Amino acid sequence: MSFGAKKFLANLKEKNVKVVVFDMDNTAIRMHSSGALRVSKFKDYCQKVSPDFLEIVPFLIILNIRVAIATFSDEGMEKGATEHYREPCYAGNKLVNKMLTTVFPDRSIASQVYAVGYYPKYHRGGKLWKLHHLDKISEHFNVSLKDCVLFDDTRDNVDNHGEFTAYAVDGSVGFRFSDYTE
Ligand SMILES: [Mg+2]
Repeated sequence: MSFGAKKFLANLKEKNVKVVVFDMDNTAIRMHSSGALRVSKFKDYCQKVSPDFLEIVPFLIILNIRVAIATFSDEGMEKGATEHYREPCYAGNKLVNKMLTTVFPDRSIASQVYAVGYYPKYHRGGKLWKLHHLDKISEHFNVSLKDCVLFDDTRDNVDNHGEFTAYAVDGSVGFRFSDYTE
């Protein structure tokens, strides 16, 4: 385990964090899916996984710290994108789960990561930013929002964090251990 990973885990333990939530585009993956990703770009997309995300997820699961992906990529985007590009596209939870099983070939890892692919504008009356995602995630793992931390490269998602804690990621480099600043 790298020094950065050790320090990251020690900080999480000290704060008693129960769930670590990663945004997908430009955070877990150092590339943007544009919401729906063309199949021809999928391999490249997975190769751009953040090295720190790749290293830490298996350790989090072993230590029983839960992991989730909260993304604006929404399955509702798939049909329109497929028509637009005239090429099959993946979006929403389908994209998240395909990415996870590709970057973590050990299914026992990928299967434990909870995915919420949801674009608020597609769902009338839904909570904005990542608030709906975090509600779903805290319910799924049966923890309170204050036990969750979010890493996200979109400033609005970090600033409008509600009861959970959120940390800004530099979208040009993706998630890094040093993003966890407390
Ligand atoms: Mg993002």
